[in-house]
Amino acid sequence: MFSTSYIELDQAALENNLRYIRRIIGPDVKFSSVVKGNAYGHGIFEYVPMAEECGVDHFSVFSADEANEVLNVSSRKSQVLIMGYIDNSELEWAIQNGVEFFVFEFDRLNKAIEAAKNLGTKARIHVEFETGLNRTGFSRDELEKVIEIITSNSLYIDVVGTCTHYAGAESIANYVRVTNQIKTYNEIDQWFRTTGLNSHISHTACSAAAVSYPESRMNMVRIGIMQYGFWPSKETFIDCIKHEPERKDPLQRVIKWKSKVMDVKEVATGEFIGYGTTFMATENMKLATVPVGYSHGFSRSLSNQGRVLIRGKRLAVIGMVNMNLLIVDLLECPEAEKGDEVVLIGTQGDQAISVASFGELSDQLNYELLTRLPRNIPRVVINNQTKKLKSA
Ligand SMILES: *Cc1c(COP(=O)(O)O)cnc(C)c1O
Repeated sequence: MFSTSYIELDQAALENNLRYIRRIIGPDVKFSSVVKGNAYGHGIFEYVPMAEECGVDHFSVFSADEANEVLNVSSRKSQVLIMGYIDNSELEWAIQNGVEFFVFEFDRLNKAIEAAKNLGTKARIHVEFETGLNRTGFSRDELEKVIEIITSNSLYIDVVGTCTHYAGAESIANYVRVTNQIKTYNEIDQWFRTTGLNSHISHTACSAAAVSYPESRMNMVRIGIMQYGFWPSKETFIDCIKHEPERKDPLQRVIKWKSKVMDVKEVATGEFIGYGTTFMATENMKLATVPVGYSHGFSRSLSNQGRVLIRGKRLAVIGMVNMNLLIVDLLECPEAEKGDEVVLIGTQGDQAISVASFGELSDQLNYELLTRLPRNIPRVVINNQTKKLKSA
């Protein structure tokens, strides 16, 4: 495999994270693994079988193309749920393959019924309620008509779930808005159940909500970022570890994105480093170049900000991140040599880089950087067996 960097996926870390999430949500709440954005950059192709091996049998995606990828690699007939976009022309395919999807507007509802009629089967839908995110979802006053359409087409439609999504459960700043959403959802759902549609599951929680708002867990949670070993925000992390006796991060990064030192060199005081003048050496410096840049998914916003690991030390990215390479300050690691492993995300020794762990950069950076990891970086699953082989 030719590549300037590699991604390793750690099966044991995933097992650890899923066990921890199960401990938080309890035994009775269904777990849906959110694998949109190419499984947050981990790779649907590799990640879905890993999760299935841990017992996961429900996956949520954004769109039909992702649903198709999950179906293609799933070996245990897991349920797939599309939370966002499905083109009307893709509805028959979804219904035929048992793929479930959110419905939040009338055209999709009507077209789904049409498609199900053509196939002589039922569309399995999740009715999304508008509760305050103001993105997608039926408002309360549209729902009477929704119910009318559903009940008069009960041969062709199964309401498998009702759902909503929160407007930022990872930040305490949104506390009032989120608790209002939970209240609104419960009111609508209770009323919805009185209309005879009452055998469905209720699901609303993403990672942050599942941690910080226990009442949002209901019958199922849709967990993305945490299963991969990243926190939605510092606040969610603190909410979690305050209950942990050891105050230690209970999650482990599944992904390790690594490259190698391409070259080392010395630069004299007063020289500018890299393009432009964003970094000037204030002393004689030793630098390493690494063949990873923004074209490989290492964001330019990490210029003079990012951190990488070499020989177990956290080192600063200096100067601008280039298209194909970045420059690292070796002040803390003068012994580094060409060929040394460089960890861009993940652990090395007892250090860990979670993309957004440095500085006061936005917490959203974890989501953005992970999902921007290009598909063509080779991904390898590491399980205990490969670990043994490696150390042998
Ligand atoms: C992405 C997403 C989730 C999962 O969010 P995390 O913060 O990664 O846990 C849940 N529900 C919906 C509708 C989503 O779009």
